[in-house]
Amino acid sequence: MHKLYVAANVPEAYIVLNMLARAGIEARVLNEHAAGGMGELPFTHTYPEVWIDEDADRKLAARILADYQQRPPATGSVRCRQCNAENPGDFEICWQCGGAVSG
Ligand SMILES: [Zn+2]
Repeated sequence: MHKLYVAANVPEAYIVLNMLARAGIEARVLNEHAAGGMGELPFTHTYPEVWIDEDADRKLAARILADYQQRPPATGSVRCRQCNAENPGDFEICWQCGGAVSG
């Protein structure tokens, strides 16, 4: 287990998680429930963290993270067909329920 990234909020953590998953890297989001829901102010100073399972993936994961941090933020948002959660416009998988996002 290796801590790759501390995200500002849960959807951001899942953007990174999605990108890692597409590259075949096993990863997980920790602390996602500590930071409060989307649009709420966090009531603790705990932010969601993205951890990768295999230390061997660190190099590739760091490169993916760098790509993510360089690209402009996604414009607009889409709502999940299953749970109606708001997702960033370039999401394919809902950060909340894992269902397909309409777009
Ligand atoms: Zn959903």
